Amino acid sequence: MAIVRPGIYLEDNPPARSQFRVGRRDPVKPVIVVHTAESGTDPSGPDPKAENVARFIQRRADAGSYHLVGDSDSIIQLVKFENEAFQDRTGSNRWAIGISLAMNAGDWPGLGAERRDELVATAAQMAAITARWLDDRGIGLPAAKLLTKSESDRADASGFISHARRDPSRRSDPGAGFPWSEFFRRYQQFLSDNGRQPDRETLIRQLQSLVGTAPDGIVGPNTIAAFNRNWLGRDASFDDSVADTFTNNPRVVEWVQMRINTKDGFSLVIDGDFGPATEAAVKTFIGRGGVVTAESFLILVEP
Ligand SMILES: [Zn+2]
Repeated sequence: MAIVRPGIYLEDNPPARSQFRVGRRDPVKPVIVVHTAESGTDPSGPDPKAENVARFIQRRADAGSYHLVGDSDSIIQLVKFENEAFQDRTGSNRWAIGISLAMNAGDWPGLGAERRDELVATAAQMAAITARWLDDRGIGLPAAKLLTKSESDRADASGFISHARRDPSRRSDPGAGFPWSEFFRRYQQFLSDNGRQPDRETLIRQLQSLVGTAPDGIVGPNTIAAFNRNWLGRDASFDDSVADTFTNNPRVVEWVQMRINTKDGFSLVIDGDFGPATEAAVKTFIGRGGVVTAESFLILVEP
């Protein structure tokens, strides 16, 4: 299960040109347009592609955005659902919500089973986040159904459509290999899970990937050693005198920032930089002089 980053990226990081319209010209419908961002596909390990797509959209000179973008381990909200994202040139921006996987549409056949499962799960998780927002406003859950373009244009439409079906002469995303039935199965599973946070084992696996050890979900000596090596810049043991050197892995810093925000209501900027605000939050949350040790990081994997 991917971590959902706090905040609205394109409001927290204003884009170079307008990438969304404030308010909607038509009432939002329970219809989700599914995309891939054509940003390249990360085949294994920590996946930076959603973060890369968010930065790309923030800086791009032309129009093109989504409400949500996700990769195999994180989801970023770029645009509030009540605003129009610039995700489709065929008229759906007014009433649809656009979600996008940070990968290439043509890469499904070559993906390993694990990464493929993670990406389908992230797409389903993004769909469920969207569905809950719609449902909370009395608009209803999008049906687990692939619509045609004309079906999606109806006022009473409910379901999903590919960008390819909206705009077949220009687009093929999310790709002929996108597994719709599996996606719908997982979407319904997420809805029944009711939005809980990732479980402890999932969090441990994520952190294990970030520190470069086998993601087996079990914290043993190898995980502790990898954490110390990649977080503290040392081998086996922690030494307070090297506290200044323990910011050598921005991906781990990002993970810690996200977990502290999720667990304790902080609103740290997720930038991978161990600055004063992050240090103060860590100090409050974990103690030990603001230092996350291999042992204390276990607090962060408790759901
Ligand atoms: Zn698209």
